[in-house]
Amino acid sequence: MYTYSSPRLVTVRPEMDRLAQYAPGESLEAFSERTGIPIEDIIKLNSNESSYEPAPTVLQALSNFRNYNNYPDANSTALRNSLADYTGVDGRHIVVHHGSAELINLLWHLFLSVGDNVLCCPPTFSLYTSVTTFCGAHVLEVPRKPGYELDIDAILDALTPETKLIVLTSPNNPTGNSICEQDILTLLDTGRIVIVDEAYVEFADNPHGFAYLVPQYENLIVMRTFSKWAGLAGLRIGYALTPEWIQAYMRRAQCPFEVNVAGHIGAIETLKALDYTLDNVRRITQERERLYALLDSYSFLHPVPSQGNFILMRVDEDQVSVREIRAAVEAHGILLRYFSQPEMRDFIRVTVGKPEHTDKIDSALHNLLP
Ligand SMILES: *Cc1c(COP(=O)(O)O)cnc(C)c1O
Repeated sequence: MYTYSSPRLVTVRPEMDRLAQYAPGESLEAFSERTGIPIEDIIKLNSNESSYEPAPTVLQALSNFRNYNNYPDANSTALRNSLADYTGVDGRHIVVHHGSAELINLLWHLFLSVGDNVLCCPPTFSLYTSVTTFCGAHVLEVPRKPGYELDIDAILDALTPETKLIVLTSPNNPTGNSICEQDILTLLDTGRIVIVDEAYVEFADNPHGFAYLVPQYENLIVMRTFSKWAGLAGLRIGYALTPEWIQAYMRRAQCPFEVNVAGHIGAIETLKALDYTLDNVRRITQERERLYALLDSYSFLHPVPSQGNFILMRVDEDQVSVREIRAAVEAHGILLRYFSQPEMRDFIRVTVGKPEHTDKIDSALHNLLP
């Protein structure tokens, strides 16, 4: 056996060394292996997926389809037409992509050069930071106020000539609150590209979000996904509502056939079965209120009101530690989201599931009472 040794002349870009890998919620497989609990007994409430399956007609259409041997329609014409009906925004403003995580990757690479920055308001979705680093750019963090509203004055003060993007999440993950129109209009006035991530908008009191503003502005992008409300996280399908000039660049930068055929079918059929899917959304928002009341009834938990399909709670560690709660719920097969950032260490996020999942959480927490 020879081992060859060739000179290593090329290294990755220098900023790759400060790139922290995005840590997604633990998978069913990994949790099962770690705990010995069989996959079918696990209650997965750590990644804000839907606990409800897609409509039966969606599953039927996916299995009836016979043209998987052909590439998808690269223009996504049928899906963009359905999305135009659903959002009320003309198809010229719609770009379909494989998940909004990938939309973030695409948009960030369109706008950021090395040395630029992105303004974001933690606590929020941490993928924005990893992708920013991947672009050789930096994140400007303007923390939210107590109660988690945006600190608009601090945002305006923080902007630099290198600030290209302002990213806002509405409802915000993990705090669950929505943004008001006036704040968006103020930020649009800065001339920066304002990106509103509406991954959870269907669960909000105003489920239409800010789509209606897109045709009126040259610097507003709204991102949406079928992962959360529509139960299609596994098919990876998302879309952006953008000004026409930006959508032209996005289409150019996309690889051909990026959104697969199954994703197209899943999304189109979901929009045809809208009543079915929105019934499930309603079940989830009702359950959210019951889960909130339940969590609030435990003296060691301080849940935050939410417009999403999840609830953030602060743990009063003088009474019970996050570690003890984690052990108790994991013994019941329940997977929740924990945080490694220092300012979020005493928080836990739980996805709203079915009523029986709430009951199971109650049983697990009950064991912790003194
Ligand atoms: C879950 C989530 C996403 C990712 O959605 P995909 O379409 O599944 O990639 C994007 N933004 C936020 C805020 C999320 O919580």
